[in-house]
Amino acid sequence: MPQTMNISLDQEKELKEKQIMQQHQLFNVHFSHRHPLELSEIHEEDKAVCSGCELDTLGSAYICTKPNCNFLLHDLCFDLPRHIRHPSHPKHSLKLLFSPPYSDSEFTCDACAKSGHGFTYHCAACKFDLHVECASLPEFEERDDHQHPLVLLYGDTDKMEGPDFVCYVCGGSVWKGRWSYCCLACKCGAHLECVCSPLCG
Ligand SMILES: [Zn+2]
Ligand SMILES: [Zn+2]
Ligand SMILES: [Zn+2]
Ligand SMILES: [Zn+2]
Ligand SMILES: [Zn+2]
Ligand SMILES: [Zn+2]
Repeated sequence: MPQTMNISLDQEKELKEKQIMQQHQLFNVHFSHRHPLELSEIHEEDKAVCSGCELDTLGSAYICTKPNCNFLLHDLCFDLPRHIRHPSHPKHSLKLLFSPPYSDSEFTCDACAKSGHGFTYHCAACKFDLHVECASLPEFEERDDHQHPLVLLYGDTDKMEGPDFVCYVCGGSVWKGRWSYCCLACKCGAHLECVCSPLCG
């Protein structure tokens, strides 16, 4: 009789340990946040904004396990590399910072010229910053409203002749020092935000 009790106690202990191990596997610590995160599913009604890229979040995301802490990361933002080389800034590698290194806690993205308050791919020597979503813009975009693929230009004035040009999508002017999607054959182009859906809205 005591023997069977021992066995069942041992089994219970083992089961508990297993459960704790599984729980630990679910918890994830990210360098950008001091609390452990948990992989979870975000639904539209949650109206959640990623703390890394500041964009709306749907689907799988890592959310903070502490109550009243609103920190969360897209699964993609969770897995971002700490250092990248980007063709727009060939001189130096860029380091992923989890908050802007400037005194006003804000950076201006060198790609889209908009401000950011979350993650930035940063070059300290040049004070160069990219939103994480701008750093991952595709080099080519195929669009239904243009017969040729558009190529991403990093404010590369040599490739497009003439002064600033007009965005063929919205009709607004595109400053050539800024990133844009262009057709080199037709010498036309468009704003980043007029081409790329993740930047829209
Ligand atoms: Zn994100
Ligand atoms: Zn937290
Ligand atoms: Zn940007
Ligand atoms: Zn640099
Ligand atoms: Zn436009
Ligand atoms: Zn074209």
